[in-house]
Amino acid sequence: MYDGDISSVLVTEEQVREKTAELAQQVAGDYADLVRDGRESDLVLIGVLKGAVMFMTDFARALPIPAQLEFMAVSSYGSSTSSSGVVRILKDLDRDIAGRHVLIVEDIIDSGLTLNWLLGNLQTRSPASLEVVTLLRKPDAVKVDVPVRYVGFDIPNEFVVGYGLDYAERYRDLPYIGTLDPSVYA
Ligand code: 5GP
Repeated sequence: MYDGDISSVLVTEEQVREKTAELAQQVAGDYADLVRDGRESDLVLIGVLKGAVMFMTDFARALPIPAQLEFMAVSSYGSSTSSSGVVRILKDLDRDIAGRHVLIVEDIIDSGLTLNWLLGNLQTRSPASLEVVTLLRKPDAVKVDVPVRYVGFDIPNEFVVGYGLDYAERYRDLPYIGTLDPSVYA
C-alpha cells in the first residue's frame, strides 16, 4: 500500500501498540481513585479529529477504567503543514464538561499552538481537571510550552504520516508512522 511513498518507518505498528498500552496503564493508575464511583465521574476523553482518531480508539480500548468518548474538530488558520495558533472550532463537544475529569487525546504536538488554544478554551468550561495525552511530540518544533502529562514518543522535527496523520487526506489508514518521500510533495 502506498508503494514508494514512505521513505522511512519512524514508529512501527508494534511500538504504537506497546506504547498505547503503557500510557493507558499509567493513566488508569493516576485516575483510578478519581473515577471510581459512577457515571458522572467517568473520565472524559476528548479526541481531536481527524488525526487522533486511531490513537483515541486504541487508547480507549487499552484503558482499564471507564471512559466516555467525545470528539472535537478544530482547524488552524495556516498553511497545510504549519499551524498559526488561530483556531476555529468546526465541531464542538456534544456535552458539558463542567466538574468532569477530562483528558485530551492528541495525535501529535508540533508547535503546540493548537493545543495551547484548546486547553485555554476547555479550561473556561470548568472541568474538574484537564490533562493531555499525546502519542507523538516534536520537541524541536515547540513554540509554546504546553503542559502535557503523558507523551508517547518524542520524534524529530519532520513531517510524518500514518496512524491517523495525513498528507492531503491520504495515509491516515497506515498502521504505522513514517516519513514521506520527497517525491510525494513534488
Ligand atoms: P501544532 O499546532 O502543534 O503546530 O499542530 C497541531 C496539528 O498539526 C496536529 O494536530 C496535526 O494535525 C498537524 N501536524 C503537526 N505536525 C504534523 C506532522 O508531522 N504530520 C501531520 N500529518 N500532521 C501534523
